Amino acid sequence: AKDQGRNTYHFFETEMTERAVQRLHLETALRGAIARNELELVYQPQFRLANGDLCGVESLLRWTHPELGTISPAKFIPVAEEIGMISELGRWVLTEACNQLTRWDAEGFRVPSLSVNVSVHQVERIDLIDEIKGIIAATDVDPDRLELEVTESVFMRNVERVVENLNALRDLGIRLAVDDFGSGFSSLGYLKQLPISRLKIDKTFVDGVDTDANDSAIARAVIVLGRALGLEVIAEGVETQAQASFLENEGCDAVQGYLFARPMAAGALRDQHYAVTD
Ligand code: C2E
Ligand code: CA
Ligand code: CA
Ligand code: CA
Repeated sequence: AKDQGRNTYHFFETEMTERAVQRLHLETALRGAIARNELELVYQPQFRLANGDLCGVESLLRWTHPELGTISPAKFIPVAEEIGMISELGRWVLTEACNQLTRWDAEGFRVPSLSVNVSVHQVERIDLIDEIKGIIAATDVDPDRLELEVTESVFMRNVERVVENLNALRDLGIRLAVDDFGSGFSSLGYLKQLPISRLKIDKTFVDGVDTDANDSAIARAVIVLGRALGLEVIAEGVETQAQASFLENEGCDAVQGYLFARPMAAGALRDQHYAVTD
């Protein structure tokens, strides 16, 4: 039993070392990813349930490393945050997304609204507004067509700076959506104090709307809450017709998910020739 304990310990140690080495690889690789042109954005369409038309597009970041392969943003974005790279990454994403909106315009594909994910760290930065103004000016994008998606965790930190930045964004005309709504632990008070225009029901609830009484109750409550507060509600991660029907019956405004389309390259999205309404 003693030996086994030692072996377990050694095994554990090796595994931890391996993980640390992997992690170091990831950090090093990530630091050069922008310069090596390894990042790209893919785009997932959002549809209005009332008419089925395209009402917006969410940009999602992709990183393909020559040796490590495709690494999920869920994995590398936390690393970028830890190593102080998230601002650089966030700037790249916003610039690229805005440039894409302009390119689509030039191609005659008018995307009404482009949603960009931003991390808590970006929203807390003192220079966020200047940076966004700079990107908008450089790319000549109408700020009314931009939506930033932030998670609830934004409303739990550094309150004054966040409130200042969010209000300044609103003043610019940029809309704000609460991503993964319902999955965090924040109080709901911020919903009436901050300039939020949309709630995005988290996939974890969408998954069970047609099979799980708790999930359907939560999704229904979010839709009712949104309507009462005059906010739009969109559901993410819709994979089945049963889920879409539930959401439509409950009065959800818009949907996004594999049932309708996967995230895809900018050109592929344009070539779908979706009907579009503002
Ligand atoms: P998220 O913002 O909640 O994005 C939704 C995720 O669900 C995306 O994963 C999307 O590809 C995936 N998805 C969409 N529809 C379906 C569906 O029907 N079924 C399933 N199973 N999945 C679906 P992805 O692209 O891997 O992104 C993961 C997370 O990484 C995002 O979650 C977001 O938090 C973060 N992220 C992605 N791009 C960016 C970015 O540019 N900046 C920041 N800060 N975070 C980003
Ligand atoms: Ca999102
Ligand atoms: Ca989300
Ligand atoms: Ca999510």
